[in-house]
Amino acid sequence: MSQAGLTEIDKVVDRCLEVLSFRPGALLSDIDGTISEIAATPGEATVHRVARQALVRLTKVVEVVGIVTGRAAVAGEGMVAIPDILCIGNHGLERRRAGTGWEHPAGVAAVTGIAAALDAISAGADRAGLGEGIIFENKRLTGTVHYRVAADPEVAKATLARLVHAAAERHGLRVTEGRFIFELRPMAIINKGTAIRDLIVEDGLRGVVFIGDDVTDVDGFEALRAARQSGQVAALAIGVVAAETPRVVYEQSDVRIDGVSATASLLGTLADRLEALRREVGEDGDIAINRDGDERT
Ligand SMILES: [Mg+2]
Repeated sequence: MSQAGLTEIDKVVDRCLEVLSFRPGALLSDIDGTISEIAATPGEATVHRVARQALVRLTKVVEVVGIVTGRAAVAGEGMVAIPDILCIGNHGLERRRAGTGWEHPAGVAAVTGIAAALDAISAGADRAGLGEGIIFENKRLTGTVHYRVAADPEVAKATLARLVHAAAERHGLRVTEGRFIFELRPMAIINKGTAIRDLIVEDGLRGVVFIGDDVTDVDGFEALRAARQSGQVAALAIGVVAAETPRVVYEQSDVRIDGVSATASLLGTLADRLEALRREVGEDGDIAINRDGDERT
């Protein structure tokens, strides 16, 4: 059952270890608001140094370490800058791993419409006098309109909502919302949840941890719950919360932690604990931890 409060990091680490004792396991994380503080503009955001270092270490002790982001996969890869990390980008519409990329056909088919819709919204925003502070991000397979730094975000949101929905309808796209953003996406229901579900099947995963902070991460949380309830995997959905966290993130996550710095300390402690376990058993040991937390080989 979900609980509104925060969970101590050590307790969350214990639950991650339990889930990741089912192997192969995956540790998946969103970027913005999860391992990177939300910045005024998307280009200014950087991955938390401690979180990044921990992810590098985790790639050596967890079978799959991956990023699941709304950014373009190549942009996510560049931000995280960890060689060969799995990167699921554009909310599940593309994936990059070990130097090879894949794009969902529904995303490729939307490229022209995304560009045209963003142009139309930009022109409409100019006519409406919204001026500076609206950022249009063309990520090819999806597009994002940011209004965080608008002079009056609430006014901008109301005007943009009209423009975004009109353009989406004209170009056969759908609209989702996040923290001070509208997103234009292909009509096909491809999201972080469908991408994680596919990854579970393709990699034969048995334990999955996913960390996220926003509405689009909730698709991932729901996919984990469904996979867990079907007995397919052990899973844990971790919500990273801050002042502006949407209610649905509280409702749909299994546990909640307090902001990007908590994610960094969670990942660092998890890396410490997993490295220690691997040392005890040896590199080739098939270590696992049962549900009581006792080690077994
Ligand atoms: Mg995020």
